[in-house]
Amino acid sequence: ESKRLNERTKGSGDMYSRARISLSGGVASSYQLRDPWPIYLERGQGPKVWDVDGNEMWDFHNGFGSMLQGHAHPAIGEAVQARYAQGTHFAAPTEDALVVAENLSDRWGLPKWRYTNSGSESTMDAIRIARAYTGRDTVMKIFGSYHGHHDTVMVSIGVEYDKIGDRDNLASLPYGGGIPDATVQMTVPVPFNDAEAMERRIIRLNDEGRKPACVIMEPAMMNLGVVLPEPGYLEQVREITRRHGIVLIFDEVKTGLCIGPGGATKRFGVTPDMVTMAKALGGGLPSGAIGGTEEVMSVVEDHTVFQVGTYNGNPLVMAAVRANLEEVLTPDAYAHLDHLNERILTGCTEVIERYGLPGYAVGVGGKGCVTFSPKKVVDYESFKEHQNAQLSELAWLFNMNRGIFMTPGREEEWTLSVTHTDEAIDAYVSCFEELAEAITAK
Ligand code: PMP
Repeated sequence: ESKRLNERTKGSGDMYSRARISLSGGVASSYQLRDPWPIYLERGQGPKVWDVDGNEMWDFHNGFGSMLQGHAHPAIGEAVQARYAQGTHFAAPTEDALVVAENLSDRWGLPKWRYTNSGSESTMDAIRIARAYTGRDTVMKIFGSYHGHHDTVMVSIGVEYDKIGDRDNLASLPYGGGIPDATVQMTVPVPFNDAEAMERRIIRLNDEGRKPACVIMEPAMMNLGVVLPEPGYLEQVREITRRHGIVLIFDEVKTGLCIGPGGATKRFGVTPDMVTMAKALGGGLPSGAIGGTEEVMSVVEDHTVFQVGTYNGNPLVMAAVRANLEEVLTPDAYAHLDHLNERILTGCTEVIERYGLPGYAVGVGGKGCVTFSPKKVVDYESFKEHQNAQLSELAWLFNMNRGIFMTPGREEEWTLSVTHTDEAIDAYVSCFEELAEAITAK
């Protein structure tokens, strides 16, 4: 299958050779890499993308979950063009910025909002706000979760199984070079789906005089495929963090608008003190937002924290976000996403059962995946222990060779868009069935 992919994508191979001369590593972001070369895309329309070799593919990558509205959506295009004609950047507020804040307040039930330009900026600023609000330095995160590329959260991600550490003492390890050890040690990881372990660690930190400022977490983990919260877990986390005076930050950069109109916050019915967003918010433009309670955001309003950025609330971005929220991500759009996801999950589950594959299909809203693990994955540790990496790799190659465009990382989920159709879903499921046939024939 890998030979077949290389044959299909020769043009990408050539472009990669050229790109490596002047673009570091041949890509704009390291997450775009894959062996032997990344796939260079030319265009996208609705649920489809075309690469430089002319391969037409159903897009299940969707810009790492940013393109919930599909490619080249006319409503977003018109809003961006109209705004462009009136000027794209002032670094002064526009009406769209306040309309978007009103819309997000309604959806999330959090009253105060600010903007950034990416998920990383959102989590960086949210953590600073939480630190200022509590007067504490320690940050608690979930082991294995990704929250962006700033130092504080580039900790305990992608760790090899034998380096994870024991459950009550998970290792704080830098994710790559250039991250100071002093910063790494200020970030304390705990396992997902285990509120008791979280509280035990909080109590120990309190005793050591290192009370956490915040817990930052995805309400459903979205970088190990999809790992849903067990019933009651988020409620317990909410209760524990409140009791210890810790700011609870839901990082909804991925779950955000993808799994419901009010994100995981509304879908799971647990309201944090802060949320961070990006990706699907922007309709394909770089955008980010932070929402919070009156109390927590008061440190922004009284100028204790400088939440700043030249491009924050950029008019072009705000026009796109407004059109996205008002015209595209409507209740009907979410009903459609739920229908599609139900269809793909049911289809994959049926194939898994018929062929007796070691795995299961899991998802929520517009997000999902097949996890190749004989046991249910509940956290990073169980993912690393049980995931069949070979099968994941083969599934990736099968998809890419049959016109199903996936993220380069094999640990990501699919993201559907409002322009996906039953036809797109059936293409995915039939490709999955071919994979099942091939695996079980051996
Ligand atoms: N938080 C989460 C949960 C993410 O998945 C990501 C990106 N994958 C980020 C933050 C960082 O977002 P960005 O890449 O826009 O900086």
